[in-house]
Amino acid sequence: MKTVAEAFALVLEHAPLLGTERVDLSRALDRVLREEALADLDLPPFDCSAMDGYALKSDDPNEWLKIVGEIQAGSREEIEIQPGQCARIFTGAKIPTGADGVLMQEDAEASEGRLRNSASGAAAHIRRRGENCRRGDIVVPKGRQLRALDMAALASCGITQPLVSRRPQVVHFATGNELVDPKEFPEGSQIRDCNSILIASLLAEQGADLAHQSRLPDELEAGVKSIFAKHDFDLLLISGGASVGDYDYARPFLENAGFNVVFHGINLRPGKPLLFATRGRQLAFGLPGNPVSHAVIFRLFLAPLLAALAGTDPSHKFLQGVVDSSEFRGSNPREAFWPCLALWENGAYRLRPVKIQSSGDILGAAGANALLRIPPARPLKPNDLADFLWLKSRD
Ligand code: AMP
Ligand code: MG
Repeated sequence: MKTVAEAFALVLEHAPLLGTERVDLSRALDRVLREEALADLDLPPFDCSAMDGYALKSDDPNEWLKIVGEIQAGSREEIEIQPGQCARIFTGAKIPTGADGVLMQEDAEASEGRLRNSASGAAAHIRRRGENCRRGDIVVPKGRQLRALDMAALASCGITQPLVSRRPQVVHFATGNELVDPKEFPEGSQIRDCNSILIASLLAEQGADLAHQSRLPDELEAGVKSIFAKHDFDLLLISGGASVGDYDYARPFLENAGFNVVFHGINLRPGKPLLFATRGRQLAFGLPGNPVSHAVIFRLFLAPLLAALAGTDPSHKFLQGVVDSSEFRGSNPREAFWPCLALWENGAYRLRPVKIQSSGDILGAAGANALLRIPPARPLKPNDLADFLWLKSRD
């Protein structure tokens, strides 16, 4: 059986880079930039004042300087500073011709239209043209998932239609004769379907497009027909039925719909029956139906896959924390990833369990913020150092 690392490598090997589109900057947050963003001007575009104060000649020998004008940010008025003169200036205003320093307002002594000259350190209060970037410099690199600060950098450089990866199109089927809509009250042996909203929410966090989602019965013909009815998706997710029981249909659904199985079953707890298949550029996963397995598999495989499809770094960014419980026994031949609470205390992350009864216990998992890695066949003792991942895959 494949290890988590081997299965992860296989998934990434089969991940084709998505196509690109230009979008309005206002819609580009969290999208992956696919071309270098180049500055279309020097920044700042002109020498400007870093302070409110007085613009002057720093080598002016006069003891008193006449205040000959006032320059606000955005002012177009052209003033030229001669020896014996200065101008009132405000933060962000263009330094007038002839001036090479700004005396900070807090250090200034001015009266009756005159300023006592004290130019010491004044030159430091000018932001020079091009000191942040030069026209043509790369301001945001290709492959960056755009965050708020990147958006501001792009706006400063006039990049209002960035080229980004298109959003991955995902189709999700939740299988199981026992499932009913969460709006319904389950009767007899029914349970509410919580994986559909779980998958929809996890996909939304990753910026993927849920193109279709519905429930399917454990019935071969219905499943195959439903898959064939969908066309332009990048990723197909089937919840439930991934194991090898008589009524586990994820594999037969996929094989009958023309998918080739890459692996089926991995050395992971929870999530052992995970199934991965491809059909040309389309990828599919059969996810074991237990909701906690869904959350674990999404974090370990699907979130990184979506990053890889979009052209950004898919690697697992493990952190280390101190085990703060004797409950992570986990001496199991399978590598385990358990939802836990990672809390920063006294200079280290402390890793505490949440109350999960089993991989079906989504209520226990709901308070977790991290996934603790328990190496195969090695129980974790209190005060051991252990790897963990944030459940939300952004750092
Ligand atoms: P399966 O992988 O189909 O064998 O399902 C494993 C367990 O997960 C069973 O107890 C199912 O009832 C449960 N399960 C499957 N799908 C869902 C779902 N969409 N919502 C909640 N529980 C589910
Ligand atoms: Mg089932």
